[in-house]
Amino acid sequence: MSPSSSSCSQEKTLRIGIIGFGPFAQFLAKNLIKQGHFIRATSRSDYSELCSNLGILFFRDMGAFLESDNEIIIISTSILSLSRVVESIPFHCLKRPTLFVDVLSVKEHPKDVLLQILPEECDLLCTHPMFGPESGKDGWTDLTFMYDMVRIRDQPLCSFFLHVFSSEGCKMLEMTCEEHDRLAARSQFLTHTIGRILSEMDVEPTPIDTKGFQKLVQVKESSVKDSFDLFSGLFIHNRFARQQMKNLEVALEKVKEKLQERSKMR
Ligand code: NAP
Repeated sequence: MSPSSSSCSQEKTLRIGIIGFGPFAQFLAKNLIKQGHFIRATSRSDYSELCSNLGILFFRDMGAFLESDNEIIIISTSILSLSRVVESIPFHCLKRPTLFVDVLSVKEHPKDVLLQILPEECDLLCTHPMFGPESGKDGWTDLTFMYDMVRIRDQPLCSFFLHVFSSEGCKMLEMTCEEHDRLAARSQFLTHTIGRILSEMDVEPTPIDTKGFQKLVQVKESSVKDSFDLFSGLFIHNRFARQQMKNLEVALEKVKEKLQERSKMR
């Protein structure tokens, strides 16, 4: 079902809770508030002051957060901490069957963990907004929003949530978590890896930059803005990433060999 063709094209004010209030959740929350939704948050660290400035109710206690009666709960913890965080959720405090949405940049891992741990009556939507605080700072038009409706019984609620993104102009792309991880290893993980390599090389702008080099510097700068936890998560919890790392090493060797062969011909 495409979100634009869903039965609920009209707006609805949603009560949305967020677990993990790091940079990505803060970026997301600002847009959700602009759309008029009620936001509550909880996190390992204390974001009370930041949340109060944004008009968000912040809970230090996860139980009280769950009791605050959210229709939807977004999980936005780091990839590496997901299992630990989800295992610590006191689900018995939930007031209702809730739609859980994860936004992790890998997809098979949260799908597996959440299907194992979520109460049976809770729905699960696995998503990956393919943008963040940098790329989405001027709006979300034409930015891709990937989703997999893993276990959805309350279709209208799921459609209302997807409408948050389609109404901002996002390119909505439904695909399986496996397909996402296969593609993301070849695209996002590769980009982050090249960015981290360029950073290790201390690549900096020069007075004679070509356009191509300027793009490389951009790749480096945007990669290192994301946490190292995020980058490690892309590698550790995407089973297709290891092969991409090998492909990169093999490709570098091939390029070196070609250059060495050409040098010998001189
Ligand atoms: P991140 O470094 O991936 O995650 C930071 C969040 O994880 C914070 O809320 C942090 O809590 C929490 N966290 C880390 N270790 C923890 C632990 N041991 N126990 C409990 N909580 C822990 O940074 P992010 O950019 O905000 O990303 C959040 C999620 O969104 C990730 O899964 C990422 O893959 C996904 N995502 C990010 C982007 C992006 O552009 N950044 C885009 C799409 C999706 P505290 O802050 O309370 O310490």
